[in-house]
Amino acid sequence: MATATTAIEPNVKISATKLLINGQWVNSASGKTFPTINPSTGEVITQVAEADAPDVDKAVSAARTAFETGPWRKKLTASQRGNLMYKLADLLEKNADELAQLEALDNGKPYHVARAADVPLTIACYRYYAGWADKNQGKTIPVNGPYFTYTKHEPVGVAGQIIPWNFPLLMQAWKLAPALAAGCTVVLKPAEQTPLSALRVGELILEAGFPPGVVNILPGYGPTAGAAIARHMDVDKVAFTGSTEVGHLIMRAAADSNLKRVTLELGGKSPNIVFADADMDKAIEGAHFALFFNQGQCCCAGSRLFVEEKAYDEFVERSAVRAKKRTVGNPFDKNTEQGPQVDQDQFDKIMGYIDAGKKEKAKLVAGGNRVGDKGYFIEPTVFADVQDNMKIAQEEIFGPVMSILKFKDVSEVVERANKSLYGLAAAVWTKDITKAHAIADGVRAGTVWVNCYDVFDAGAPFGGFKQSGIGRELGEYGLSNYTEVKTVTIKI
Ligand code: NAP
Ligand code: MG
Repeated sequence: MATATTAIEPNVKISATKLLINGQWVNSASGKTFPTINPSTGEVITQVAEADAPDVDKAVSAARTAFETGPWRKKLTASQRGNLMYKLADLLEKNADELAQLEALDNGKPYHVARAADVPLTIACYRYYAGWADKNQGKTIPVNGPYFTYTKHEPVGVAGQIIPWNFPLLMQAWKLAPALAAGCTVVLKPAEQTPLSALRVGELILEAGFPPGVVNILPGYGPTAGAAIARHMDVDKVAFTGSTEVGHLIMRAAADSNLKRVTLELGGKSPNIVFADADMDKAIEGAHFALFFNQGQCCCAGSRLFVEEKAYDEFVERSAVRAKKRTVGNPFDKNTEQGPQVDQDQFDKIMGYIDAGKKEKAKLVAGGNRVGDKGYFIEPTVFADVQDNMKIAQEEIFGPVMSILKFKDVSEVVERANKSLYGLAAAVWTKDITKAHAIADGVRAGTVWVNCYDVFDAGAPFGGFKQSGIGRELGEYGLSNYTEVKTVTIKI
């Protein structure tokens, strides 16, 4: 554990704990609340209003009014919408320390990481899409006959958005920013584990001057509030990030209700491929980062680490040494690399996978245990000699557990990399450009990183092949999720 002497004391005041509906902070219709927990201690931080179907109805109705007759689409110009988003980005920047503290408190990620990564990426995302607000333009089409035909990019309408707990601020930005730029109005449900930063952003949205009903934020549980959004007859589109299991439910709810548009960002089991000719120092540190970043709670974690035979023994030994050096502890300590897992359920699930790895006779070369007796801390864990058919090589662990597999050559590793129901991301480490291209070409995944990992930019699309999802977030492609194309033909 990192020492207490380099830790700061969180000094954040939690002001937003209710539902944001139609520009007002309100209690839930049922009056119910739920606790949000500090994963470093297991203690309750505060109670938050718990939305359910009646609150979703109210919020959707406010979003509908704001969309149809409110100022959002009818009175504000596209550039005025963009300016409000720039204003929100400025307010996020002004409150960056506080937002990073809320993330560390509610999610458990190190404060200094949230301050250096989550918060700046969040701000950049709002600014990127603010710029798009007045640039989402259609085309003129040279059709046959005496006609003038053009297309318009119109907002899809009321967007329902359901987000996970692993990057609360950033996932909120990936959802809200393109929707608002396109001219949609939104009902968003943050994850039950991490509602606090989403609600604080709600306060900043009001401070920036967004009209009532444009953004509604409803903390609550998935099977109640989340499901009510997914099956709502007056929600035009649902965007979801989370487990593949719930992704199936969202799609079914959309099919059974009003055929709302669906985009899904789901799980992964991403292959990270290291050739023997790679810069070994960089590959070892890169693979460590690819797996352990964010306590291993990344949909795109490099969780199937394929290492070429010739470099395998050295790589395993040095990866184990690196994992043992990783500092686990208080998220408010600047020397901490890894905080707690987000909650008891995730902790139990990960410990279950560690057991499965041992039972299936993978070779445990680092970690494997809980850290301390309070909070949800787990030792950085490394399994070597993992086989393709083992549970830890097939299922998403979503925790600090590295699985190393051995391979011989390019065609073999591409085939094995693709034997997965997922296809979110992949990476390759090599100095040979031919091998890099062979992997970039051959692997069925939405993102391929070469000699790097987890490089994100608001302009670069991200999303999954196969059961890792439907559609892309970020960039121009992300905007199209919130756009309906209208064709207009005029006789001349
Ligand atoms: P999850 O259940 O898929 O949660 C994601 C979001 O969906 C949360 O807001 C959740 O609400 C909501 N939800 C749950 N059930 C729903 C339903 N029936 N209808 C509508 N919305 C619903 O994920 P989890 O239980 O937190 O984590 C389980 C596993 O999912 C993890 O171990 C990991 O493998 C994967 N995961 C992936 C990502 C990713 O970035 N792709 C993120 C988180 C988790 P609640 O807060 O009430 O659950
Ligand atoms: Mg929490």
